[in-house]
Amino acid sequence: MPNFTQNQLQKITTDIFEAGGVPSDEAEIIGELLVASNLAGHDSHGVIRIPQYIGLIDAGLIQPGAPMHIERESTSHALLNGNWGFGHVIAQKAMSLAIEKAKSSTISAISVYNCNHIGRIGSYPLMAAEAGMVGITMVNAGGTARYVAPFGGSDGRLATNPLAIATPTRNGHPILLDITSSVVAQGKIRVAFNRGEPVPLGWLINSEGEPTQDPRDLMESPQGALLPLGGIAGHKGYALGLMIDILGGALSGAGCSGSGNTRLQNGVLMIALDIANFTALDDFYEHVDGLIAHMKASPTAPGFDEILAPGEIEARQTERRQREGIPIDDETWRQIQETAMEVGLSELKF
Ligand code: NAD
Repeated sequence: MPNFTQNQLQKITTDIFEAGGVPSDEAEIIGELLVASNLAGHDSHGVIRIPQYIGLIDAGLIQPGAPMHIERESTSHALLNGNWGFGHVIAQKAMSLAIEKAKSSTISAISVYNCNHIGRIGSYPLMAAEAGMVGITMVNAGGTARYVAPFGGSDGRLATNPLAIATPTRNGHPILLDITSSVVAQGKIRVAFNRGEPVPLGWLINSEGEPTQDPRDLMESPQGALLPLGGIAGHKGYALGLMIDILGGALSGAGCSGSGNTRLQNGVLMIALDIANFTALDDFYEHVDGLIAHMKASPTAPGFDEILAPGEIEARQTERRQREGIPIDDETWRQIQETAMEVGLSELKF
């Protein structure tokens, strides 16, 4: 399994997208965000996506360099038409706009449609946390990617509709919730499928509605479904996924599951909250730090070494992979090299 430094993997990614027709400033953003996912340990949203995104560019479904239009706007909100540009680029601009607006309006909401897949959604609320704000991002799939069974159902009707919330802390890394409303992201099934490994019980049902550990039951036909978050309380994950479908897809006009849409997109909602306009930042940090310390002081249950804050695993993994390198599985590396050849890079320099 090859191992790369952050810089090497960013260069590989940026070079492939530039050769694939993406303007260099956009290719840089994509390289940065895909590799940040790998660094954080979310390989499902990292460079494994290069072949998929290049395929979408070739098919004319991602239009690199497309200008983003603000269609409606007030001091505290905007509706953006992404014009089918690169999702990561649109999403980064949308959260930047949310942060700018929240500086004067305290709270802002930006809704986006005609936007391709934005990747790991936790990247965007982290931008707000870095600006001393709370950031919230949620997306649906514009009515496509119907992988998740409704609670009590036996086929895929919803996308994995994720929610991410980040809040700054005084000294440590931000607290980051970044979760799908399904048990796991579909990309995690793709990673297991590429590796030929089984997935844990409780993630999937097959096309008969029976529990299965075989990723082929989602990746191949006849297709089963991912289960909603929550196990025996799956009604909560289902309800969460449904609300995210509405806030991501109905508010923006991207479309909800059942709309009959076939073109994959992320219907996006970005929210920024300027903490300092509610309370002194110092007081806020004191509450947050105290809360986390209180959690960590809980005596650990059998099988656990410590209590973690949301986002801590990713922050630690990022530090480790920045030090030790990012391992890329052989099948993913083979696909990346193949894609490089397809866009005319006979040799990858890194
Ligand atoms: P996951 O199940 O790994 O959960 C991640 C979250 O749980 C993080 O906030 C993490 O810090 C927290 N966490 C994990 N272990 C913890 C522990 N022991 N203690 C405390 N907190 C812990 O991730 P997922 O739900 O499978 O989602 C994976 C990724 O997929 C996310 O980054 C998401 O943004 C992305 N995604 C994107 C799309 C899209 O359409 N753009 C769709 C679905 C998912």
